[in-house]
Amino acid sequence: MALKSWLASANDPVSDFPIQNLPYGAFRYREQTHIGIAIGDRILDLFACTANGLLAQLPEEIEYACRMETLNALMELGPEAWQRLRAHVTDLLDAEYTKDETRKKVEVTLVPMQAAEMQMPARIGDYTDFYASIDHATRVGKLFRPDNPLLPNYKYVPIGYHGRASSIVLSETAVRRPCGQTKAGDSAPVFGPAKSLDYELEVGMFVGPGNRLGESISINEAERHIFGLCLVNDWSARDMQSWEYQPLGPFLAKSFATTISPWIVPLEALAPYRVPVRKRAEGDPAPLEYLQSTKHDRDGIDLTVEAYLETRAIREAGIKPERISRGNLRDLYWSLAQMLTHHTSNGCNLRAGDLLATGTISGPDEGSEGCLLEMKHRSGAVQLATGEQRTFLEDGDRVILRAHAQRPGLPRIGFGECAGLVIEAAPLTR
Ligand code: MN
Repeated sequence: MALKSWLASANDPVSDFPIQNLPYGAFRYREQTHIGIAIGDRILDLFACTANGLLAQLPEEIEYACRMETLNALMELGPEAWQRLRAHVTDLLDAEYTKDETRKKVEVTLVPMQAAEMQMPARIGDYTDFYASIDHATRVGKLFRPDNPLLPNYKYVPIGYHGRASSIVLSETAVRRPCGQTKAGDSAPVFGPAKSLDYELEVGMFVGPGNRLGESISINEAERHIFGLCLVNDWSARDMQSWEYQPLGPFLAKSFATTISPWIVPLEALAPYRVPVRKRAEGDPAPLEYLQSTKHDRDGIDLTVEAYLETRAIREAGIKPERISRGNLRDLYWSLAQMLTHHTSNGCNLRAGDLLATGTISGPDEGSEGCLLEMKHRSGAVQLATGEQRTFLEDGDRVILRAHAQRPGLPRIGFGECAGLVIEAAPLTR
């Protein structure tokens, strides 16, 4: 018998937030910002839980962390504390084990999700973006180097770049089309609104306890440092990128905005969906020893990731956003643990609340491309049911990323949405 909650909306089979999920977020309600846990169509207000004495049996540092306005303090406590809090909250919401008296106390701490305004879940000190999909790297590489799409380091190094934390925004924040330098063919470079605006469908991991400068995190310890996962849209101006990226990699083509979803799904909720990491092709080198986990049969996660597009015409017609791609996190060449371990392998310190993103998640098949740039090899543009076409994003387009893990007999673990509306560039001034 699968676990059920006494809260009916949590047992709806299409809900992203059953009792087995319990993702963390921060929200504003009645002029106050608290952290909470999504359950069905409600948010369990953790501050209110501490005020009602519902967390009094837990160690003081957990109660303290639950009174904060961001998740950083809780992130810092580590996996044993996260498990204790999660087990305790599961009991509070469990249909079988909750006493009527406790249930009444819990009920008053539940906030209707619709009435709350989601906030940034953590103060993000640093943001790093990887490039962990070999299918993405190969398709994009082909556009630039048809004969030699994959660079020789790819199968040895989890490639990444340091992104910008200051411009990370929460889902539903409008994204202004950036201005920048672009250069077409043999003409001189020009400055103006980017023409080739793209999204990148990614998963982000929030770092829990960090490591000291000069020390590293071993591959088998890596997941103890991951608080949970969210969706990330790494908006990219491709025309700016292709002109600026050599020799140091992405810069202004990416730093104008990065959108994250508000709910952070604990790795524990995804435990039933762990799968072996993608098998390396015959002839590929084995990862170097510091990147070889002894539990590689569970290093991957079977998580479906999808991108939807809502153009202005779709919105005005009142029809549903159209799905333009569907991929899976299990298709990545590098695991989450490998990315985190590689990041610290030189002694670089990670800190609680840092965000590491996977890079565009694409699969081998048509329809699994995680950004518009990769779809160019299709018929040249994405054809929408409205008759519209897209090579890149237009002003008024809204991109919605979604993710879920689901299998017969298992609860659906959803991520909610990571959405952003593209608005026109700011007028040029000098
Ligand atoms: Mn990216």
